[in-house]
Amino acid sequence: MNFQSTITLFIKALDILSGNSLTFELKFQYIRRLGIKNNQAYFVLLSPFTIFAIYILFIATNTMRLFIATVLLFAGTVLQAQVKVLTGTVIGTEYSVDYNTGSMSTTANTKDMAFDNDPSTIFASYDRSYTWVGLDLGKKHIIKKVAYTSRKDWASRMVLGVFEGANNPDFTDAVPLYIIKTEPRDNVLTSAEVNVSRGFRYVRYVGPNNVRCNVAELKFYGTEGEGDDSQLYTLTGLPTVSIHTADAQEVTSKDYYLQGIINIISQEGKNIFTDSLNIKGRGNASWDFPKKPYRLKLFNKARLLGLPAKAKNWTLINNYGDKTLIRNCLAFQISRCLDMEYTPACALVDVMLNGEYKGTYQLCDKIEIKENRVDITEMEPTDTKSPNVTGGYLIEIDGYAYQEKSMFTSAYYGIPVTIKEPDEDDIVSEQSAYIERYFNRMESRVSSPLYTNETYGYHTMLDKASFLKHFLVGELSCNTDTYHSVYMYKDRSSDKFFTGPVWDFDLAFENDTRTHPISNLTDYLFRTRGTCVNGMREFANRIINSSKDDLRHIWSRARYDRGLTNKIFSAHIDSLTNIVAESQVLNFMRWPILNTIVHQNYQALGSYNAEVNTIRSFLTYRFPWMDSMVGLTPVGIDEVPSHEIYVQGGQNGITVEGITGNATVTVYDTSGLTVASTGISAGSADIPLQPGIYIVKIDNGGKTTRKKIIVK
Ligand code: CA
Repeated sequence: MNFQSTITLFIKALDILSGNSLTFELKFQYIRRLGIKNNQAYFVLLSPFTIFAIYILFIATNTMRLFIATVLLFAGTVLQAQVKVLTGTVIGTEYSVDYNTGSMSTTANTKDMAFDNDPSTIFASYDRSYTWVGLDLGKKHIIKKVAYTSRKDWASRMVLGVFEGANNPDFTDAVPLYIIKTEPRDNVLTSAEVNVSRGFRYVRYVGPNNVRCNVAELKFYGTEGEGDDSQLYTLTGLPTVSIHTADAQEVTSKDYYLQGIINIISQEGKNIFTDSLNIKGRGNASWDFPKKPYRLKLFNKARLLGLPAKAKNWTLINNYGDKTLIRNCLAFQISRCLDMEYTPACALVDVMLNGEYKGTYQLCDKIEIKENRVDITEMEPTDTKSPNVTGGYLIEIDGYAYQEKSMFTSAYYGIPVTIKEPDEDDIVSEQSAYIERYFNRMESRVSSPLYTNETYGYHTMLDKASFLKHFLVGELSCNTDTYHSVYMYKDRSSDKFFTGPVWDFDLAFENDTRTHPISNLTDYLFRTRGTCVNGMREFANRIINSSKDDLRHIWSRARYDRGLTNKIFSAHIDSLTNIVAESQVLNFMRWPILNTIVHQNYQALGSYNAEVNTIRSFLTYRFPWMDSMVGLTPVGIDEVPSHEIYVQGGQNGITVEGITGNATVTVYDTSGLTVASTGISAGSADIPLQPGIYIVKIDNGGKTTRKKIIVK
C-alpha cells in the first residue's frame, strides 16, 4: 500500500466516523480531488480491505471507531516513514579542492558538504573524471528516488553525472540508478524517481568526464530491504553495459587485460547478466580516438543479449568516425543478404565504465574459431602432422600485419598475412610453416597463367563464391579498406581457403574523404580509390575479372530473393535509427563531434539525421550502379520514381540530385532557347547559371523530369 492510498483510507475512515454517509460517487470524487488517478481511486474504493474496514466501522462502537482511526493514522505514518531520506556514512573520492587556493584539500569543499542540507556548501573533488561522493547505508536499501543540487552557477557540471548502487564497497558490482540527461535548474534541489528493485548498501553520484565532481546537495530516498532483480535501470532504449575494473583502473592498453565485473541490463531493465571479466583495448586506427574500443574476455562463456555464439570473447566497437553509429550493422545485413556463411553478430548498447557514461557502442562477436562464429576445427599444439596439421586456420590479409608476432608475407604478391588462430601464444612451427606454404600455393594458382584452368586454376584452392560475396559487400557499401583487411579461413582436410567474415565498415557508405565523391566513380572502388595492401589489387582483380558470370549470379540472387534492395535497406535504416534514437542523443552529448571532421570524414553535417541521410542517398544510386557494373538488368527492383530526382535553384546555378546511371540535363530559358546541356553520371551535379528563370529537363534511364527553377 502506498502513502496516498493509506491517507485516502484514513480520510474515509474519519468521514464515516463523523457520521457522514457519503455516496459512492461523492467518495470517488473526493478521492479524485486528492490527485489520485481513476483506476487507483476505484481500487481504493473497492479493495476488500477497504470494504472490510468500512464494515467494521459501521458495526463498531464509538470507542472502537476512535481506536481504529488511531490505528489507521499510526499505520499511515509508518508507511509514509518507510520511504525516507536515507542516511549513512559519507564516502567518496578522498581529496577535495580548495577553490581559493586551487590546491588539494581535506578541509575545504569536503564530501560531508554534499549531505549538510546547505545548498551554499559543496563537495568539489580535486581530480577530474571518475570522482564521486556517496553513502554507505550500513544495510541494503531499495532506492526510490534521488535528488541533487548543483553548485551555484555550475549546473552544467552535472550533465551526464550518474547515480549508482552497489554492494561491494569498491563499487565493482555497481549498476546505474539514474543518469542526468539535461542541465538541472541552478542550485535548487532536483529530484528523479528511481525504478530499481535491487537493494544496495552503497550508493553514489559520479561526476561526468573531465570535470571536478561538483555537487552542493545529494539525497537518496528509499526503504530498507534486500530487493530483487525484477526491475533495473537502462540509460536509454538500448541495453546498458556497465563495467567496473578493479581499483577503478582506466583501460589504457591493448596488450594487458584489467580485471573487473560486467553487468549487462537488457529488455527494459528486466534482465541482468553479471560475470567477472578481463578488459583491454583493441583496434588499430580506432584505438587512437578518445572514445575507445574494448576487448572483453568473460570468466564464463555466455550468449550475451541472445546473440548466437556462447563465448568468452566479445568486442565493444566504438563507431567514433561513423556518426550514424549504424554502418557496421548495415554492412552485416548486406553480408546476410549475400548469404555469407558467417556474419558477425552484434547489438547496439550504451556503455558505462567505472561509473562514467562512455557512449553508444556495438557489442559484437570477436572474430574467432568457434561454433556460431568461424565454425571450423580448433587446433591443438599437438596437431603437427597430416591430416591434423591441415587446419583449421584463421588468417587475415592485413595492412597492419607487420605489427604482429605471428605473420608472414606471401611469396608472389607480397601480401602481409597475420595468423589469427592458432593464437600466437599457442601456434607451433609445423603449423605456421604449413599455413604459409599452403597460402603461397593458393596464391601461385591465382598468379599462374593457368589461373582459370579447370584443374590447375585458383578455384581449386580458393573458394570462389565466398571471395565474390565478400567483394560484393565491400563494393556495394564502398568500403575503402576491403582489400586492406580480409579474413580467410581454412578448415582441416579442406583444400580451399574461404573468405570471410566481413568486418569494419566505419569508412563505408560514403564516409571517407579519400573515396568521396563515390558518385563519379566509373569503375569498382577497389580498382580506383580503395586501399589495397601490396599486391592485393592484382590478386582480387584476377578473381573478379575471371568470375563475371558467377558474380552476376550471386548478385542477382541476393537482389531478387534475399532482400538486397534499396526499399528493404531503407527500412533497415529506419529500424536501426529508431533503436538508437535516444542513445545517439546522449552519445553526441558525451562526444560533441557532429560539427567536427573526425577520422576520414569529408563532411560534418551537424546533425545525426543528416549523417544518416548520406547513407540513404548513397544507397539510392549505388544499388543501380552495382547492377550495371555486374551486368544485371533488374526488373521491378528499386525502380526510382521520378520525384526522387531533385532539382534545386541556388545562388549561382542549380543542383541536380538522385541521378542513377547516366543522365542528360538540358536547361532552357523562358523563350525556349537552350542555355546549357550536359551529361552527368550517377549522383548529383551542380550546373552554374546566371540569375533568371529556367526550365530544367532531365532525361535519366528513359524517364524525363521537367521543372521550372529560379536562380537568384
Ligand atoms: Ca551542501
